[in-house]
Amino acid sequence: MRFTVAIDGPAASGKGTIARALAVRFGFAHLDTGLLYRAAGVKAAESGMEPAEAAASLGEADLARPDLRSGEAGEAASRVAALPAVRAALLAFQRDFARREGGAVLDGRDIGTVICPDAEVKLFVVAAPEERARRRHAELSAGGDSRSLEEVAEDLRIRDARDAARADAPLKAAPDALLLDTTEMTIEAAVAEAARWINEQLRKA
Ligand code: C5P
Repeated sequence: MRFTVAIDGPAASGKGTIARALAVRFGFAHLDTGLLYRAAGVKAAESGMEPAEAAASLGEADLARPDLRSGEAGEAASRVAALPAVRAALLAFQRDFARREGGAVLDGRDIGTVICPDAEVKLFVVAAPEERARRRHAELSAGGDSRSLEEVAEDLRIRDARDAARADAPLKAAPDALLLDTTEMTIEAAVAEAARWINEQLRKA
């Protein structure tokens, strides 16, 4: 069975948590596509390779680094993610992952619009900027990052603006995506709503 759940949204909207929970619930494989861009950005910065070359050369070891979750890696990701050659280098891997046997959940910025426009289910997850900054700050603090809430909020604002304004695959909802606003919704409620929709589509598949 091939079945793709495409989840997009801005940083710290809750999309990653929702994607992981849905993957467990339905037994689908999960790909956090942000990690690909983070790994490409970090590898290019460290090795001096061209970003597209770094993206094309990613292996398991590059994706397993714990420091990919840092604010610096997020910033490096957002810069290289604006380069069409980097996006092109990562396209086939993501598409193959999406159509793997047994079902797949991918989360990112352009999954429902560019990578998997034919996904059986598309979700666009949003939350108010202050709430996203609060969540990302808590997450980074737990990992030992000492930046203030204001600094984290400013970083998110810059990154969101860059992701939404770039010419190639900007962050935007697919017209047929289900919108989930997690500002006041618990993750459990968002997952339950998404699961209802997935079940409906699975019955048709
Ligand atoms: O989701 P995450 O914060 O890990 O993504 C890091 C950066 O990677 C984003 O700010 C965005 O620039 C880029 N990205 C992207 N397309 C994706 C996933 C991430 O451009 N599908």
